[in-house]
Amino acid sequence: MRILVTGGAGFLGSHLIDRLMTAGHEVICLDNFYTGNKGNILQWIDNPKFDLIRHDITEPIRLEVDQIYHLACPASPVHYQYNPVKTVKTNVMGTLNMLGLAKRVKARFFLASTSEVYGDPDVHPQHEEYRGNVNPIGLRACYDEGKRLAETLAFDYYRQNKVDIRVVRIFNTYGPRMLENDGRVVSNFIVQALQGKPLTVYGDGSQTRSFCYASDLIEGFIRLMNSDYVGPVNIGNPGEYTILQLAEAVRDMVNPGSEINFEPLPSDDPRRRRPDITKAKTLLNWEPTVQLQEGLQLTVANFRDRMNKNTDSVILGSRS
Ligand code: NAD
Ligand code: UDP
Repeated sequence: MRILVTGGAGFLGSHLIDRLMTAGHEVICLDNFYTGNKGNILQWIDNPKFDLIRHDITEPIRLEVDQIYHLACPASPVHYQYNPVKTVKTNVMGTLNMLGLAKRVKARFFLASTSEVYGDPDVHPQHEEYRGNVNPIGLRACYDEGKRLAETLAFDYYRQNKVDIRVVRIFNTYGPRMLENDGRVVSNFIVQALQGKPLTVYGDGSQTRSFCYASDLIEGFIRLMNSDYVGPVNIGNPGEYTILQLAEAVRDMVNPGSEINFEPLPSDDPRRRRPDITKAKTLLNWEPTVQLQEGLQLTVANFRDRMNKNTDSVILGSRS
């Protein structure tokens, strides 16, 4: 198949491309390199089955493809809040353009949505029927509401234009290739610990997240894309940790002498987050296999390697 991956030079997109190329598909990577980089896909650049297009999805594009994995959008609060209007445009105009392309060429369309559609949830754990608690005018809204509208667009194209959609709601995912300046919690703590700097816990660290390792997530993507189920489906690891527990785990693993500093909690920071993965288990026969300690070891090894070599190109660690 010929498969388009938007945001393919980013953290998750590049791991997905590795998986698709290894399976023998033709892959087109489309990216504006806002948070992505060529190093992530360097190993495929000379492969005749691979194409790289520098393009911003807020502009339409004409391509012939069988499937579209639509991942283009900055995912870290630091990066999506840097230019919030652009984040809205990417989610709304960008998704509209990609759905228009899917409609024209009759491609199956996969939307990378997010647990952020549940906002600061008052249902725990979060199941797919929960409609969420998002502040529409807050600092996170450009992303949360942007993704909610992206889901709306996907379902309207599905009902109105018969576009063959799949929608995944991704919970916090980490792993090799996250940028050193990504700004999300796992990469921040690892980089801080490796540099001997204090780990920055926002608030008192009692807020929780559930962390999924990248290879588990990509397996979930592939299963959903190739199933008959439209979604939305939660994909994430139900192992739930406080942010302070995460800081202690990274500190103990990397640099037991590191201090932990407490800094102000950003506004609208969700208190708790854990996926209900009943749907993924029953409909896709998917569940995560890499638990936090193991995933952190693989991720720390990758950051250590990159920070020593100062290169961004690495392969996802594997357990076998
Ligand atoms: P990332 O920032 O590493 O990757 C995003 C990619 O999209 C980058 O390569 C970036 O350059 C590209 N991009 C951004 N705006 C673009 C535009 N207008 N045109 C073309 N390319 C553009 O983030 P990631 O963690 O790999 O996330 C990928 C997708 O998964 C995003 O849609 C994100 O919302 C979703 N997601 C990720 C997580 C997670 O924990 N990693 C959680 C929930 C949802
Ligand atoms: N966080 C933190 N220190 C950091 C970065 C993030 O304590 O250096 C906290 C943040 O306030 C949030 C959690 O870690 O409660 C997860 O943040 P992240 O930006 O990774 O993802 P999101 O909030 O979008 O789930």
